Amino acid sequence: MSSVGQFSPNAFKRILTSLNSARFMDDTGTIEYFGQKAVILRADVFHLIHKELYRLSGTAANVILSLGGRRVGTEEGAVLLAKARSVGLGEASASPDFIQMALEETNMGFGKLSILSLDKQGGNASVSISDCFEADSRDRSPHPSCFFTLGYLEGVLSKLLGTNVRGIETSCVSKGDESCVFQLKPQESIKLK
Ligand SMILES: [Zn+2]
Repeated sequence: MSSVGQFSPNAFKRILTSLNSARFMDDTGTIEYFGQKAVILRADVFHLIHKELYRLSGTAANVILSLGGRRVGTEEGAVLLAKARSVGLGEASASPDFIQMALEETNMGFGKLSILSLDKQGGNASVSISDCFEADSRDRSPHPSCFFTLGYLEGVLSKLLGTNVRGIETSCVSKGDESCVFQLKPQESIKLK
């Protein structure tokens, strides 16, 4: 990976490492991650919540999860950009290298994320996640199931690309694919169709 401006990928890595570690505060019994209070929730409990929401409210469950994911992604993107600005990397944060590293090196526990393609100008991105926490290969579905993760990618990429993007999940482990793949593009271009 090439350096961006006067900053090396190592400078990016140091920023991410400082954000990317959970702080366990035993005196208050709380955990802080990315500047926010966080809880550790078992993935199987997340599946249970999704299943019950779906049983009670049908596809509205997917919308609710997607909204939650988008909130997390938007806030994480804002934190990444603020951190980059605070150490003088404001301009570099617009570079594809920064965006790629910010996404691939941040470990939210969602799975191993890889950028398959990124068009910063056009606001398009393709992302694959292996071992996505939200996919369930034991409980096969004919449809993609990773709505929270899709929302997260929409939120974080909207921030990092500087334009509102929305996406679809085109492959999913839940329906037997090898990995989960998400295609994102500017919201405007979707509306026009
Ligand atoms: Zn999936």
